[in-house]
Amino acid sequence: MDLLSLVGIATKRRGDYFSQAKALAKKARTYEKLETMMEQEAKVLVNALRLKQIKWAEYERSLLDKALISALAGVYLGAKSAKPEEKLEKAWPKVVGDMLPPLHDFLNETKKSIDDGDIRIGDETSDFAENPKSWLGVLSRVIRYIANPAYSFFNLGQYYVQQEQGFKQMRRVAKLDKRTCPDCINYAQQGWQPIGSLPMPGQECRCYDHCRCYIDYR
Ligand SMILES: [Zn+2]
Ligand SMILES: [Zn+2]
Repeated sequence: MDLLSLVGIATKRRGDYFSQAKALAKKARTYEKLETMMEQEAKVLVNALRLKQIKWAEYERSLLDKALISALAGVYLGAKSAKPEEKLEKAWPKVVGDMLPPLHDFLNETKKSIDDGDIRIGDETSDFAENPKSWLGVLSRVIRYIANPAYSFFNLGQYYVQQEQGFKQMRRVAKLDKRTCPDCINYAQQGWQPIGSLPMPGQECRCYDHCRCYIDYR
């Protein structure tokens, strides 16, 4: 599917996505739980494709839906009780703009791997680990699209609220474990900056969706 078709489908389903994101956020209650739930869904989805329980078109549609709903649920959780529905509206262009282009490329790559026979549909190895070069790789990427971004979008929801409440400055706090990347260390070293001038965790840094920096506001 080309990128414009993906955007077209997403635009048509916007209202649906908003209500599903709201339901998902209420079920998950925290972004950590949201991430865990989506990791589980990633496994179910990739397995369904691998074991021929679903066709490619359904896989593609499902991945698109889950990626967008999960990101929106992150925003919803970040906004807490500060008019979260409004925050979904506000975040929508960014959710679509950030998620769809890489998702589109990833879907095409996976389709090519299947067509080239690098990964086999109907591969019944019971464990992903038995076939690490292929389905495991697909799964870990799917997790990166439907589970991990929840954190960055949770921060975005929080950011909208802080901005509304009149906070003027933000600072990035890096976790400073060995996975923290040089970009994140640099952002943290900049200290307090005008609100809106530092990127959300997971954006403009090398650790992308694995970034677990957080933001303080004042
Ligand atoms: Zn980083
Ligand atoms: Zn980080």
